[in-house]
Amino acid sequence: MIKMERIPDLYNKKEECCGCSACFSICPKMAISMMPDDEGFLYPLIDEAKCIQCYLCIKVCPLK
Ligand code: SF4
Ligand code: SF4
Repeated sequence: MIKMERIPDLYNKKEECCGCSACFSICPKMAISMMPDDEGFLYPLIDEAKCIQCYLCIKVCPLK
């Protein structure tokens, strides 16, 4: 199914995310989980079924 709006790309490369969890904290739908990578660093993962494309997570991100 094609959506009109896109799920936000919180980061493409790991350098674009410092793992601050601000996106996780602000998401009104609790659609973001902080998931550890192989080294235990946390990165956000969006549950596309919960996301309403409000983009608050992008606005709050200090690295955007
Ligand atoms: S766009 Fe909105 S609903 Fe979707 S993950 Fe970001 S803050 Fe949550
Ligand atoms: S707000 Fe930005 S830097 Fe912080 S965890 Fe989310 S994507 Fe990473």
